[in-house]
Amino acid sequence: MKLHEFPRHPLTFGPSPVHHLARLSGHLGGAQIWAKREDVSSGLAYGGNKVRKLEYIVPDVLASGADTLVSIGGYQSNHTRQVAAVAAHLGLKARLVQEKWVPWEDPTNDKVGNILLSRMMGADSRLDDAGFDIGIRDSWKSALQEVEDAGGVPYPIPAGASEHPLGGLGFANWAFEVAEQEKHLGVFFDTIIVCTVTGSTHAGMIAGFAALEELTGVSRRVIGIDASATLEKTRDQVARIARNTASLIELGRDLRDDEIQVLEGWAGDLYGIPVESTMAAMALGAQLEAMITDPVYEGKSLAGLIDLVRSRDIPQDSTVLYAHLGGQPAINAYWRLWD
Ligand code: PLP
Repeated sequence: MKLHEFPRHPLTFGPSPVHHLARLSGHLGGAQIWAKREDVSSGLAYGGNKVRKLEYIVPDVLASGADTLVSIGGYQSNHTRQVAAVAAHLGLKARLVQEKWVPWEDPTNDKVGNILLSRMMGADSRLDDAGFDIGIRDSWKSALQEVEDAGGVPYPIPAGASEHPLGGLGFANWAFEVAEQEKHLGVFFDTIIVCTVTGSTHAGMIAGFAALEELTGVSRRVIGIDASATLEKTRDQVARIARNTASLIELGRDLRDDEIQVLEGWAGDLYGIPVESTMAAMALGAQLEAMITDPVYEGKSLAGLIDLVRSRDIPQDSTVLYAHLGGQPAINAYWRLWD
C-alpha cells in the first residue's frame, strides 16, 4: 500500500508548527535553524511524537476489539503518558509497566511529571524494578497476560510504539508534511535533526524522505542523535524499522546505508542522565528561544545540533530542521538540576 492509503485516526490539531529559531541561529553564527514542534501539535496531554505514531495504530486497535492498551516505558516515560492519553480519548483502559530505566534517585521520580499525568488520566500504572532496554520485555508480556486473565482484551503497544509493524508510518508521513510546509514557507530543509532511542521516529523519517526523494529526485540528510547510550542496539533497530517501513509503503528500492545515520557523542554514559552538553543545550534553547527541552531526549539532540552547526559539519549555508519531539513533563522530576 502507498502511505496515503493507510488508515489514520487523527489525534493532532493538524500539521505540527514549523518556525525559525532566529536567535539561536544568530548566536551560533552558522546554518539557519528551524524547529518543527511535535510538543505543541495535539491537545492530548501535551502531545509528543508517540501521538503521531499512534494515529496509524489506532485504526488497528479499534478493529481488534481491544478494551485495554498495554504498554511499557521508564517511570518518566513520555510514551506511556501518550498511550494513557489516547486510551482516555478513545474510552479504553490503559495498563502501563513503568520500569526503573533511569538511575535517577530523586524521590519525585515516580510521582510527578509523566507518571502523574498518566495516573490522572486513569491509567493503571505499575512500577517495576527492571533497568533500561529498548527490546521486548517479560514484564510487558506478563501485563498482557494479566489483562487477559482478568477477562479483558489487551492491545500490545511496545516501548515507544517502535517494534509495532505500523510504528514507522507516523513519521514517514511527517516527511511529506515537511515538504508541503516547505512550499508554503519558501524554504528547503537540507538537514533534519532528530533524537533517536527506540528508533521508529527516525526510521519513519528515513523511509518517508526516501519516498520523497523517489518523487522529487532531491535528497537530504536525516541525522539521528542517539540518546539511548546503547548505540548498537538503537542503530540496528533504526535500520530494521526503516527497512520495514520502506517496504510497507512500497518504496521500491533498498535503503542505502548512507540514508541511515545515527550519530553518537551526546548521550553520555546512561540513558536518562544529562551531561554537560545536555545542560548547556537546554539552557541555550530556553534562554534564546523559550524553547523548553528535557534532559532525557531533546536536550541531547539539541546538543548534537549545536555542535554540528558550530563545527560546520552542517555547513553555514544549510537550513536545518530540528524535530522537537516533546518530553517536557519529565523536567519536573529533574527539578534538582536547576535548584
Ligand atoms: N524525544 C522524546 C521526547 C521522546 O519521548 C522519545 C521517545 O522515546 C524520543 C525522543 C525518541 O523517539 P524514538 O523512541 O522513536 O526513537
